[in-house]
Amino acid sequence: MTSPLGLFGGTFDPIHFGHLRLATELAEAFKLEQVIFLPAGLPYHRGAAAHATAEQRLTMVKLAIQRDARFDVDDRELRRSGPTYTYDTLAEVRAERGPQVPLVFLLGSDAFGQIHTWHRWTELFDLAHFAVAIRADDTEWLSKGPGAFHADVGPRVTLNLRELLGSPAGKVMTFSMTPLAIASTAIRNLVKDDGSIRYLTPDPVAEYIRSHKLYHSGT
Ligand code: ATP
Repeated sequence: MTSPLGLFGGTFDPIHFGHLRLATELAEAFKLEQVIFLPAGLPYHRGAAAHATAEQRLTMVKLAIQRDARFDVDDRELRRSGPTYTYDTLAEVRAERGPQVPLVFLLGSDAFGQIHTWHRWTELFDLAHFAVAIRADDTEWLSKGPGAFHADVGPRVTLNLRELLGSPAGKVMTFSMTPLAIASTAIRNLVKDDGSIRYLTPDPVAEYIRSHKLYHSGT
């Protein structure tokens, strides 16, 4: 069986312990030897612009993952001009890694609940599996469970890890991660209000935010 590769996309504005636990717990659950963080360029479906620059978000990801050999970062979405499409990224990675390797795209249940709004979303399942971490603050999931996902996703959901890892793409598995109701928005708001963000994000990231005076104005 080819070793599966984890891919974790996000705005990471800034990266925080919720992201790092998600990547850690899903890597263990899905037996991923490597998880590549993919900071998003312009996430077209998110409307609001990012608050730190692409370069700053990339630096903060590097600071956060520097001590974990399992984690790496890929800045391809930041180097792309125009909107960021997960489809393009997955198609590139698939072409680079070959047709056999299981690609596992990691994301929170709030993000997966919106997947039907993503560019060429039905084709994403030809390229990768989806490992969905149930997020503590996802009220949609709390009220509806898997019904929070688009109906077309239903047949792809599996409880069988061997089935998922035995094929390169196409399956969806949920995972109840340690609840950590941390969000980048809350961190930005705390900084703006001069609150402490310690223990919400790794110290080097908090220090970078402080020394570069990030997030002090606007939300
Ligand atoms: P924002 O508050 O700006 O919306 P965010 O904290 O949700 O940001 P993103 O960079 O948008 O961070 O998230 C990247 C991915 O990480 C998404 O799939 C999201 O669901 C997931 N995620 C973010 N925070 C958590 C958390 N506390 N627990 C589990 N998953 C999370």
